[in-house]
Amino acid sequence: AKGLGKARYAVFDTSMHAQAVALLQMETYLRRAVERQEFQLHYQPIVNLKTRELVGFEALIRLWHAERGFISPAEFIPVAEETGLIIQIGTWVLREACRQMYEWQQKFTAARNLKMSVNISPKQFRQLDLVTQVEQNLRETGLNARDLKLEITESTLVENADLVASMLKEMQALGIGLSIDDFGTGYSSLSYLHRFAIDTLKIDKSFIKDFNTDGEKSKIVNTVIVLAENLGIDVIAEGVETAEQAYLLQELKCQFGQGFLFSRPLDAQATEALIAAKLEC
Ligand code: C2E
Ligand code: CA
Ligand code: CA
Ligand code: CA
Repeated sequence: AKGLGKARYAVFDTSMHAQAVALLQMETYLRRAVERQEFQLHYQPIVNLKTRELVGFEALIRLWHAERGFISPAEFIPVAEETGLIIQIGTWVLREACRQMYEWQQKFTAARNLKMSVNISPKQFRQLDLVTQVEQNLRETGLNARDLKLEITESTLVENADLVASMLKEMQALGIGLSIDDFGTGYSSLSYLHRFAIDTLKIDKSFIKDFNTDGEKSKIVNTVIVLAENLGIDVIAEGVETAEQAYLLQELKCQFGQGFLFSRPLDAQATEALIAAKLEC
């Protein structure tokens, strides 16, 4: 038994070490990618479920490693948050998303009522000048505040709630939209939605997955939609993959959807082609 314990400890130790090395390598890699500006944005359409009209995009960051190929943001964003690099990365994302949207709006009349949604990490709210940065960004890129939406998570609202509330209020005063991302996965209540004057909820894809066969899930989704409607909040269902899900969501009066059924995230060129060709997915 003693020997086994020792062996187990050794395994644990090695994997901890490997993990620390991997984290350090990722950090070094991200730092270089920031310096060399190797990130890209892809854009995933958000559609009106009833009319299938395109209403906007979510900007999603992309990174290709020389040897490893595509690295998912689900892997590197947590490292960027841990190391503080998210500040520089987040600043670039916001700038590029606004610049690109404005360019499309100038080029295509049809793009003028589309909105751009940008993910903002909880750590970015530790920058006391975040609101000024966003404002300056709009001024410099030319994008109208009402065409920008910020996606924040429930954890942003819970951490440092008073400070975040006042920052969000200032954003709102500028005309920027606020969405709660991954709704239902974190700690937040409807009183939060009211307090922070949120205008959009994005129901997390874990609720949409199997919700056609899982009665419990469809009840939750229905409740969220009804309550949001009463509060005057828009709802976007994330991770819509099948026509059946889209149909059922529409039956529940969910207004908007996003997911592989409509489109995968597209690079800038493909996004532009979509805007140019048609505004339906
Ligand atoms: P998220 O904000 O929840 O973004 C939606 C994710 O769902 C994206 O993954 C998207 O590709 C994926 N998705 C879209 N439709 C479907 C579908 O029908 N089925 C399934 N299974 N997945 C779908 P992605 O691009 O890998 O991003 C993962 C996460 O990384 C994002 O989750 C977000 O938390 C973070 N992230 C991505 N870009 C940024 C960024 O620019 N800044 C920050 N702070 N975080 C970002
Ligand atoms: Ca998001
Ligand atoms: Ca989400
Ligand atoms: Ca999610």
